[in-house]
Amino acid sequence: MDQSLKDHNRAHHGHRVGGLRAAVLGANDGIVSTASLIIGVASANGTRAAVLVAGAAGLIAGALSMAAGEYVSVHSQADSDSADLDVERRYLSSEPDLELDELAAIYEGRGLDPELASIVAKKLTEQDALAAHARDELGISERNVSNPLQAAAFSAASFAIGAFLPLAAVWFTASPQIPLIAAASLIFLSLLGAIAAKAGGANMVRGSLRVLVWGAVAMAATALVGHLFGTNV
Ligand SMILES: [Zn+2]
Repeated sequence: MDQSLKDHNRAHHGHRVGGLRAAVLGANDGIVSTASLIIGVASANGTRAAVLVAGAAGLIAGALSMAAGEYVSVHSQADSDSADLDVERRYLSSEPDLELDELAAIYEGRGLDPELASIVAKKLTEQDALAAHARDELGISERNVSNPLQAAAFSAASFAIGAFLPLAAVWFTASPQIPLIAAASLIFLSLLGAIAAKAGGANMVRGSLRVLVWGAVAMAATALVGHLFGTNV
């Protein structure tokens, strides 16, 4: 491969960012929701033990709900993909000529001349008709087929790791320090935002600012609610 092609490939980060992006999003969720939860309890004058229990319960609840959500979503995607493939397989054996025309029309629609489109469609049909239809008609490729259990475990783990960070800011202190929890969480959020942006080849400052603002808003909201409830309940 020549150098310019290598550089070009390196400039396209998209294909290898999927996993890292999901991990960073899970960890962001864990940080924001757990930090907000424990800041809320601490603002209501909760004891260190109450804050730690709330944070630990939030970690478990959040990790499991992320896992369940991911499992259901990946599973239903896989179900609908395999149903689509079944239909496609049936048509390929009952109406091969129509399917060949359909494939050629797709390539023509993408800008190939009719003759070339028909040659490409024939070649790909000879090689693996189902794979060609899956990819070019249905948009299913092996790259976006993932294992539901693996995805669930991955989401839960990244949420739990994120949730652990604000919790540690309480664990290692004698009493809950709201400014410390908030500051530690915002620092972690901006670091993660910068890492994700760097890996994705996007602007780092914008990436971390966006998540910082949302994190700060969430923490301020629960601090306010905790404060109001703490003085009125
Ligand atoms: Zn088809």
